[in-house]
Amino acid sequence: MKYNPAQNIQNLQFFGEFGGVNPSIEDSSTYTFLKAEKMEEVFEKEIEGCYLYSRHWNPTNRYLSEALAKMENTESAVVTASGMAAITSTLLQLCSAGDEIISSRMVYGGTYAFLKNIAPRFGIRVHFIDITNLEQIEKSITPATKVIYCETVSNPLLEIADIPSISQISKKHKIKLVVDNTFTPMILSPANLGADIVVHSLTKYINGTSDTVAGVICASHEFIHQLSDVHHGIAMLLGPVMDSLRSASVLKNLHSLHIRMKQHSKNGQYLAEKFEEEGIEVHYPGLVSHPQHDLIQRMMSPEFGYGGMLVINAGTKRNAYTLMEKMQRANIGYLAVSLGFYKTLFSSPGSSTSSEIPEEEREAMGLSEGLVRISVGLDECIDETFRKIKTCLKETGINQPQVC
Ligand code: PLP
Repeated sequence: MKYNPAQNIQNLQFFGEFGGVNPSIEDSSTYTFLKAEKMEEVFEKEIEGCYLYSRHWNPTNRYLSEALAKMENTESAVVTASGMAAITSTLLQLCSAGDEIISSRMVYGGTYAFLKNIAPRFGIRVHFIDITNLEQIEKSITPATKVIYCETVSNPLLEIADIPSISQISKKHKIKLVVDNTFTPMILSPANLGADIVVHSLTKYINGTSDTVAGVICASHEFIHQLSDVHHGIAMLLGPVMDSLRSASVLKNLHSLHIRMKQHSKNGQYLAEKFEEEGIEVHYPGLVSHPQHDLIQRMMSPEFGYGGMLVINAGTKRNAYTLMEKMQRANIGYLAVSLGFYKTLFSSPGSSTSSEIPEEEREAMGLSEGLVRISVGLDECIDETFRKIKTCLKETGINQPQVC
């Protein structure tokens, strides 16, 4: 049968201690041993079914990690306390002082800030490149390069990374390709396309209820073992562990992700087409006008659509702010960062999630001040939502219809 991320999760069966249909939540920070020698053994190597201390591993986090590994079709996974913890743990596990990272210049602002401001403090050099330019990627490789880092669909301008081609380059040079798939769970499966490691902020679509911050690293058994190694593992020693109560709730939400993604995508496509019809500059990978529409079509699982993220250009920062305030008052959604909620969320990336990127670099990427990033919600009547948005656009003075 063709690989299907939703079906892979559906096929898993985890039972509770008393036959519960959900696995039991292990609400303990530490675990007892009948024999002292066994404890010593678990310190030295992971033994299936044996737990030592919850920062290392706990059964509840194992269930969620296993389900996410199934979703991304990797051998293993480890959940973390945030998406940033997943990203930074991965990069710090792979790189030491003197190593280099090639990163897309268009990544989530927090990732950009880590690469720009923190990684150099550990002697790690970062080259920011245009991820759509394969020649530039290859030219930036040096003998010290350890990682190529990108987002499948970039935050915020929705550029698409050509994962199969980038993976050919990374494999040729024996470099690890690390991909953040936060915007497109189910839709894109980077490991199937050649990525070595896939990270997510679970805070967004995967959890979907905007009630927790969490992350995951999906990779080979070997890499996940390295991360949780008692003596050398970054996930073990920096300690970004996810709480088991939260882990259990994310697992329950994961079971409806495929349905939610379809609805987010359906609504995203509808709004993107309507904005385009109105003559508003809109970025959405499901539009034929998107420069990499063909590329995403070649990589995606089409049944999940093109996702729920779109970006419009309101022209100026003032327009963007006025529009968002009006949209919030009209109950279209909330003026808030983040994404993947049932309610539409909107923010102005230049002054929020991408504000860490220096102004001149933002300009070079086309990340202008008038952009409004919209995480389209699960609205049942999206046509009604658009009618309300149109009124807000008109009141803000954006693309007023021409009188004939
Ligand atoms: N990756 C992307 C694409 C994001 O948009 C975000 C947050 O907005 C992160 C990673 C960081 O995730 P978290 O806030 O869970 O640490």
